[in-house]
Amino acid sequence: MRLSWRFAIWAAVAVVVALSGACVASRLGMLAPADLASLWSWSLDSWESTDVSPSGETLRIVHEPLALARNLAIASFGFVGLALSAPRLLELFGRASNETGGGAGMGRIHSARKQLDGELDTILTLVRAHLESNQTYSAALRKGHNEIVSPAASPDQVRAAIILLIAENQKMLRETEEYARSLDDSRRQIDELRATLAETQELNVRDSLTQVYTRRYFDTTLERVVREAGGSGGELSLIMADIDHFKKINDTHGHPIGDEVLKNFARTMTSHVETKDTVARYGGEEFAIILPATGAAQARLLAERIRSEFETKKWAIKGGRPIGRITASFGVARLQPGEGPAGLIQRADAKLYVSKSGGRNRVSTDES
Ligand code: GH3
Ligand code: MG
Ligand code: MG
Repeated sequence: MRLSWRFAIWAAVAVVVALSGACVASRLGMLAPADLASLWSWSLDSWESTDVSPSGETLRIVHEPLALARNLAIASFGFVGLALSAPRLLELFGRASNETGGGAGMGRIHSARKQLDGELDTILTLVRAHLESNQTYSAALRKGHNEIVSPAASPDQVRAAIILLIAENQKMLRETEEYARSLDDSRRQIDELRATLAETQELNVRDSLTQVYTRRYFDTTLERVVREAGGSGGELSLIMADIDHFKKINDTHGHPIGDEVLKNFARTMTSHVETKDTVARYGGEEFAIILPATGAAQARLLAERIRSEFETKKWAIKGGRPIGRITASFGVARLQPGEGPAGLIQRADAKLYVSKSGGRNRVSTDES
């Protein structure tokens, strides 16, 4: 599906390029060989001076040699702009549908995809129509030119040919402006679709309870940053975090209170990281933080800051009894040369286990 879309886009670009080439070629084809100067002499002055209008009537040729080229250039920029933005959109569609497990997001993506299909159809139809009218225009120019340069042509015939050329040219200019307007409409629609998709994509990669990234997003992000760090030799650290005795909180105070604790823990972690970092809900009450360009010491410091802030929070149920201290345990690992995402997770998890078995509410790392 994605391949055929790309093919359609690049076919559209090819048509536009061919169209512009055909136009230039048709213009040059009107000229006598080696007489390029006549390209510029195709104007009112030259015809007046050759007695085109013996009655003294002034003919105004609206056509200017560069008008058509200019309008085609505008239209071509429009086509190429849309064609260039389309692959990015398709990538967005692909990512959004990959990251969506189903539900409402899928419906929005499906409808956006249908709309984009429609817009691409419109663009292809425009390109096709533009190509056809350009062919008609070229034929009319060629015919008019032949009639004008014919030695047997009478002044009336020359005059009729010029009027025909003027009419054809005006028609072409009108059509080109119409195409540009339609393309503008399509571009607006596509911009709106892009915003809808970005919004949908964001909704689909966030955990609905805690608003941090989902496990699925975590997996794809970790895979990517491990690859990047492996390629550049850059640093990368991972923190795994788990709330201590969380089951007891649920059992004692109820699930809704447990949910509030989860949300608060997620907010605490998010408030300590930078935009390059990724906080994700790994599962249940376990979270993970991906830290690109971060060494073990720095990652440990960050985990320690989160741990100590969380530990010092005062918890109380509104109008009810206070909840005692809530803590979390952390495991930190730094990416080793040649290591993959699974190895890194395993080592951070092993360190988390060390923290748990060592008494909880602590940070353990694989480096001293
Ligand atoms: P430990 O200190 O060893 O981590 O003990 P723990 O009680 O935190 O760990 P355990 O794995 O025994 O219990 C985790 C609990 O987390 C069990 C599960 O019901 C609860 N939990 C998982 N997801 C959610 C959620 O979304 N909301 C709430 N309220 N509880 C959840
Ligand atoms: Mg726990
Ligand atoms: Mg757990």
